[in-house]
Parts: sequence; structure tokens; C-alpha cells
Amino acid sequence: MIQQAARDFAQSELLPGVIERDNKQQFPAEQIRKMGELGFMGMMVDPKYGGGGMDNLSYVIAMEELSKVDASASVAMSVNNSLVCWGIEKYGSEEQRQKYLVPLATGQKLGAFCLSEPEAGSDATSQRTTAEFKGDHYVLNGNKNWITNGNTADYYVVMAQTDKELGHRGINAFIVEKSWDGFVVGKKEDKMGIRGSDTHSIMFQDVKVPLENRIGEDGFGFKFAMKVLSGGRIGIAAQALGIAAGAFELATKYSKERKAFGKTISQHQAIAFKLADMATQVEAARLLTYKAARLKDAGKPFDMESAMAKLHASETAMKVTTEAVQVHGGYGFVKEYHVERLMRDAKITQIYEGTSEIQRLVISRAVLDA
Ligand SMILES: Cc1cc2nc3c(=O)[nH]c(=O)nc-3n(C[C@H](O)[C@H](O)[C@H](O)COP(=O)(O)OP(=O)(O)OC[C@H]3O[C@@H](n4cnc5c(N)ncnc54)[C@H](O)[C@@H]3O)c2cc1C
Repeated sequence: MIQQAARDFAQSELLPGVIERDNKQQFPAEQIRKMGELGFMGMMVDPKYGGGGMDNLSYVIAMEELSKVDASASVAMSVNNSLVCWGIEKYGSEEQRQKYLVPLATGQKLGAFCLSEPEAGSDATSQRTTAEFKGDHYVLNGNKNWITNGNTADYYVVMAQTDKELGHRGINAFIVEKSWDGFVVGKKEDKMGIRGSDTHSIMFQDVKVPLENRIGEDGFGFKFAMKVLSGGRIGIAAQALGIAAGAFELATKYSKERKAFGKTISQHQAIAFKLADMATQVEAARLLTYKAARLKDAGKPFDMESAMAKLHASETAMKVTTEAVQVHGGYGFVKEYHVERLMRDAKITQIYEGTSEIQRLVISRAVLDA
């Protein structure tokens, strides 16, 4: 039912206008509002906080379907669900859940996750944003880069350094409201892919954050970010899977319609074998993603499996979308046929929430420690 609901929504609400939004770098605001009404923005949150009470498997199934059509909409959903809502529900206080999680899970408000900085990407320990403790509040100063939902979010989960001497153990995580004094939205990035997604830098200029908005104990921020990102990777794996599966479906359909040398191109073995490889890679990505989701649902360790799922699904997305363009020939190179956009969108899945190199680092450490 979830798969069908997501598929119907993608076809009826996301597909019309997706090319135009990509051209204009236009955020799918209306579509995200409707996704909130349908329960896609807080799928796994406990119903007592306004969520759907579903499992991770349901979430990745929905993510796959929506990403087949519009990866810009699905990344907004992924950040809200797996980074912001999950982080607050799991590690936040009851007050934080009531005040922030309820509007985020019901889609009335949108969340953003602010870890990356100009000098701190893969090496997230090098936080230069500071959170100076002042007794009953903190004062935030610094810059964040590449923030998804940067200008459209209402609530931002922000990591910042409180005690430099303690290194990553001196980092804290805070819930920050966009409306607060000193919160400045910086430039919008002009991107290669997921162009409908709203990516901005953010500046904090003496932003006063109440003590009660810190998530967890003093110094918990880095651990919080790593835990949340490990779960988030399942969502990005599902996004990559959807991009790959969407391109595969389009290529298969086209191969049965396009004729060359007196037969459909699907009847040429070179094309049929390409489709066979694409189908196999997509299915492997799906199974790895489902496995990571199931482990998380069962409350078992999933750090290695979520890294494997993201690594494999994102590499698959890149390969399969490139082949989908090839199957379409010249038509694949123009916007009307969607596959060139899917190819551009695929690239980001190898970069955000940990690059492919960082996933290999996580996996190699796990296999070597075993
Ligand atoms: C469109 C977009 C949206 C994003 N959204 C968000 C967001 O919402 N919130 C957020 O906090 N961040 C976000 N990011 C940031 C993203 O997570 C980082 O770009 C990513 O983690 C990589 O960091 P970097 O760009 O600084 O690259 P670097 O860390 O400088 O990496 C450059 C290259 O070096 C490699 N490398 C680095 N360290 C190692 C190592 N130890 N071993 C092997 N190779 C290594 C990397 O894999 C990469 O190939 C987003 C980025 C983009 C482009």
C-alpha cells in the first residue's frame, strides 16, 4: 500500500513540472506540503508525536518510489525523516519532542541538518562553528555549508564546538530556529543535480540558543551526528536505488519502442544485456538497502550495512543512469526524456552523508575489526 501510494503521488504530483523545477532550480514547496499531509515527512515517528509509526523498510520503499521521479523532493523528505525527526525522537528531551518533533513529523515545519562547514566535510571533527556556554544559554558563531532545505527549513539541528581542548568530545548539537536573531541564510548553490533541492550556506552571528535546546549531555554532539548519519545513509541508499530503478524502468520501456535495423533495440543483444546488468545491479542495491533497514528495525547494529547499502546503491545509480542515457541514444541527452536528469542527480548520492571513500573507510574498519 505504501509503495502504491508513493508511486501514485510521484506520477500525479511530482512528475508534472519536474523538468521545469530542475531548469529553474525551484524547490518543490507545494509538493513537500502535500507529502507532509500524506504522512511522508515523519513516517517512522511514533504516532503520539504526530508520525506514521512505520518501520524503516516502509520508509525506504516510499523513498525509492519518490526518488524514481524527483530526487530533489526525496532528499528534503530524507533529511526531515532520518536526520532531523529520528535524531530528535531518539536523543532529544520530551520537551524538544513536543515542541519540535510534532510539527516536523506532521509536515507543518521542515527541518535541516547542519554539520558540514567550508573546512569540515568528510572530516567533521574540524568544526569551527563555536557554541560558547553562558550559563543558561549558548552563543553560536560560524558558518555552515551545503545545507539541504537551507532556506526553506524552520528548524535546524546544528553541530558546534563548545570546548576546543576536548576535540570531537567538545562538540554539541542544538535545535536552532530560523527566526532567531543572528541567523542568516547565505548564498544558494547553483548545482549540477538535485537542482530543485534548496542548498544554502548558513551563518550564525551571535545566535542565542537556550540550554534546553541542546540535544543530550554536554559533549554528545559528535556522537549524535555520527549515529544520525549512519541511519540517514539508509535513506540516501534508498534515494540512489530509486534513481537507478527509475532510469532502468525508462530505459526498458524505451528499448521496446525504439526501432533500429528493422527491430526494436531491445532485440539487439547488446541492449538486452545492458538491461540485464542494470536489473541485476538495481536488485542487489535494493536487497542491501532492505537489509540495512531491517537491521535498524530490529534494533541490531547496522553501521556497516548502511555504509554498504549507500556505497553500492550510489555506485549503481551512477552506472545505471549512465547506461540509461546510452540506451536512449541522442534522446537520452536531452531533458525531455528524464534520464539525463537522473544521471546528474545520481552523482550527489556518492558525495553527501559521507562520500563513497568514507563509506569504504567505515566498511573496511568494520571488516578488519571483526
Ligand atoms: C548538494 C549537497 C547537499 C548537502 N547537504 C548537506 C546537509 O544538509 N548537511 C550537511 O551537514 N552537509 C551537507 N552536504 C555536505 C556533504 O556531506 C559534504 O560535501 C561531504 O561530506 C564531503 O565533504 P567535502 O565536500 O568537504 O569534501 P572533502 O571532505 O574535502 O573530500 C574531498 C575528497 O577527498 C576524499 N576524502 C576525504 N577524506 C578522506 C579520507 N580520510 N580517506 C579517503 N578519502 C577522503 C573525499 O571522499 C572526497 O573525494 C551536502 C553537500 C552537497 C553537495
